[in-house]
Amino acid sequence: MTRFRGPKGTDDILPPASRVWSRAELTFIELSGVYGYEPAITPIFESTELFARGVGEATEVVDKQMYTFADKAGRSLTLRPEATASVVRAVIQAGGVQGVMKASYWGPMFRYERPQAGRKRQFYQAGVEYLGESAPEADVEVIELGYRFLQEMDVPDVEVALNTIGDPADREAYRAELTAFLQERIDLLSEDAKARMELNPLRVLDSKADVEAVAGAPVPIDHLGPDAFAHFEAVKAGLDRLGIPYRLEPRLVRGLDYYNRTVWEYIPRRYDAAQSAVGGGGRYDQLFELLGGRPTPAVGLAMGIDRIILAMAGSELPRILDLFVVAAGPAWRDEAFAWLSRLRHAGIRADMALGDRSVKAQFKAADRRGARAVAVVGDEWATGAVTVKDLETGTQQVIPIEEITAWIAEH
Ligand code: AMP
Repeated sequence: MTRFRGPKGTDDILPPASRVWSRAELTFIELSGVYGYEPAITPIFESTELFARGVGEATEVVDKQMYTFADKAGRSLTLRPEATASVVRAVIQAGGVQGVMKASYWGPMFRYERPQAGRKRQFYQAGVEYLGESAPEADVEVIELGYRFLQEMDVPDVEVALNTIGDPADREAYRAELTAFLQERIDLLSEDAKARMELNPLRVLDSKADVEAVAGAPVPIDHLGPDAFAHFEAVKAGLDRLGIPYRLEPRLVRGLDYYNRTVWEYIPRRYDAAQSAVGGGGRYDQLFELLGGRPTPAVGLAMGIDRIILAMAGSELPRILDLFVVAAGPAWRDEAFAWLSRLRHAGIRADMALGDRSVKAQFKAADRRGARAVAVVGDEWATGAVTVKDLETGTQQVIPIEEITAWIAEH
């Protein structure tokens, strides 16, 4: 028989390892809700043209990494490599933004990359988009949200690498200056950089293969118009007030073409794998128009869940069951199973081992299944009590059945 394997560059995330993934998802949904964001749910595939236009022809993502296919009617479709273009497309299609819209998303993205740790062909992003707001506080809020998410996920020592790439008008003159600089060093540039230079010379700035060649290149932050300059000053001041550590990174331009003004990435200082950014974002005030919508200022971020989980401190899986019910003998099984149902109705995360098993085997199952405590249904049941054991501390006691919720809350 053929043994099937998952496609190259994909991960299967099974219990119990998936506990960390649900923790990430729940934490993000909860936290983005606290900041006033609500989910936007869009298709996993879109017309290829959307990404070509929205993400940018000159980007590596569009140039090399798209999962593009023709459907049965011959339409060219692409599995989404990121979600911002889809969210903006959907909002334009629904009539645009009235006032502001704060949207969040969570889900798989697809890029045909050379797989390695933290670089997958199907990977997961959680993100927010703050649509219709031009104030610098929106940038500060979004940067803070990503930073707090990393704190809540126990990713230690995160720094925000921050830059501004100005507005399109500022970039005209700058682009000419940068192109002239690159032309002088054309022999030192990688083939990739040469190709990019024509389409978007900014992309050469953060090319890993061209670090030496672009040392000393003019950078966008020195070529800002007054509005972009004031905006960036306000973003920095806002981050200072909130105590969010950042480092200016004048060559950071990010891999997607739609950004203007503020761009940033989250870099865990102690995580020195090759793939260092665990998330990033930026302002994209022109994307709505580029995709046929009304002018709508916007800023957003995307957090890379796969990399965040790799960068988390500690590898211990959270214990997810409040209680594991153990029957002291076969005679107690029906009673125990009925109680289990009542516990679940009361919202207690509870389970038990089914079938005929020794008490020892049931305790073992409790541990394996990640229970925090065990309750034994046995002789004390007749007096309205159970024996409970805290599996983390090992303490054991007999308590009245109706006190179980309070006991769980204390342990
Ligand atoms: P981007 O949309 O390219 O700025 O990506 C945002 C975040 O998604 C990055 O900082 C990474 O953490 C994550 N990411 C991007 N591409 C991949 C990939 N191929 N595999 C895993 N994570 C990725």
